[in-house]
Amino acid sequence: MHLFRRARIPLACLPPTLQAPPVGSDPRLEPWAECDVTVSGAEIVSVVPSHRTSSTAALSASLTTTDLEGVLVFPGLIDVHTHLDKAHTWHRAPNPTGEFWDAIQALGNDSKRWTEADILLRAGFALRSAYAHGTVALRTHIDTGAGAVGEPGHAAMQRLRQEWQGRIHLQTVSLCNLAAFANGESHRIVELTARYGATALGGFPQPNPDLPRQYDALMAAARELGVGLDLHVDESGLAHAECLRAAAEAVLRNRFPNPVACGHNCSLAIQDPARAASTIDLVREAGIHIIALPLCNLYLQGRTRAPAAAGSMSAGPAQTPRWRGVTLLHEFMDAGVTVASGSDNVRDAFYAWGDLDAMEVYHQSVRIAHLDTRLDASPAVVTTGPARIMGLLSRGYGTVAPGAPADLIVFPARTFNELLARPAADRRLIHGEGFRPRQIPDYAELGSA
Ligand SMILES: [Zn+2]
Repeated sequence: MHLFRRARIPLACLPPTLQAPPVGSDPRLEPWAECDVTVSGAEIVSVVPSHRTSSTAALSASLTTTDLEGVLVFPGLIDVHTHLDKAHTWHRAPNPTGEFWDAIQALGNDSKRWTEADILLRAGFALRSAYAHGTVALRTHIDTGAGAVGEPGHAAMQRLRQEWQGRIHLQTVSLCNLAAFANGESHRIVELTARYGATALGGFPQPNPDLPRQYDALMAAARELGVGLDLHVDESGLAHAECLRAAAEAVLRNRFPNPVACGHNCSLAIQDPARAASTIDLVREAGIHIIALPLCNLYLQGRTRAPAAAGSMSAGPAQTPRWRGVTLLHEFMDAGVTVASGSDNVRDAFYAWGDLDAMEVYHQSVRIAHLDTRLDASPAVVTTGPARIMGLLSRGYGTVAPGAPADLIVFPARTFNELLARPAADRRLIHGEGFRPRQIPDYAELGSA
């Protein structure tokens, strides 16, 4: 047993009975409660307000005690949307324009090199980074399409899932082309999903007259497989793109019983507010969960170029982005829809940077989406929100509560203001009854310059 004293836990991650900020503090600015957390083995066994822990208990001979002296402590983080099969390919498949469709092309070409060994090297590196930053559960999409793409990715993730058992809970999503799926190419995707135990079918629906039938086909297959859906939806600045609305209608039409998550939903933010509000109502009614990907949206959305010069085939110079791409997080939260933020791509043609650091995702979510105005709820986007989406909330993931996994992140910040002001600050990691080393892998391992 190990007693970690005076840990300032975000209110959003505590059981309701402990969600009481200190007397005199304003939870809109500093939404935490100071608690003493006891760990036995791999599990948290008790969480009590620090002022209630008796000195006798603290000094009990059977307890090792560490006084954290009133710093912020988060539960292990959850990254609900990543692409481990694409990670760390920038050095060989860069995207100098930063454009979405150029990224598709660059990674389509690179996918010829995605052997199981190649994916294991890059995805294993990415998981070690995620773990070093404090992530304990992660969901990755795997391109599952025509030709050879798909099986090496699923096989690599199966090996990594076993290798990381007890440290990172790894879920997979079969990311496919919806139109192809509905037009006779579903067999192999369904077979790989079943054989490798994927959690959901995924895809990136595009606005088209056949979309309802494509959703129906995907939902019929997912129902048969007993899996959910996790879709890339409306990742563009096209106001007419309403694949989110169509997804909600399809869930209701099909009475689809399994979990559905929709990531991106960028175009919703530039639609008529009344229309967007009615789509949000449908999303809530359908029980769809929403995933924001602010880092990748900031990178890919809002890119514009001046017109090409006369006689030139190439576009004009880049222009300053006006729109930053994030979906309507506040409005979804107000409607009671479960929301989360994820990393999305890491060092590939869709996003040149990133390190699967869910704290970076948290920092950027607060800043880009103005979650500072609801700071008390904000930690949920990388803790309880993704835990609910991944079906892990009932196991205590994303929380600091009795029965939850004993994975905690100890920051050198005493307040949210200090935490958010200094995003590069180091952190200590608790795993079980002690601290674990924080080992961020060296890029040299990837053989890239
Ligand atoms: Zn994605």
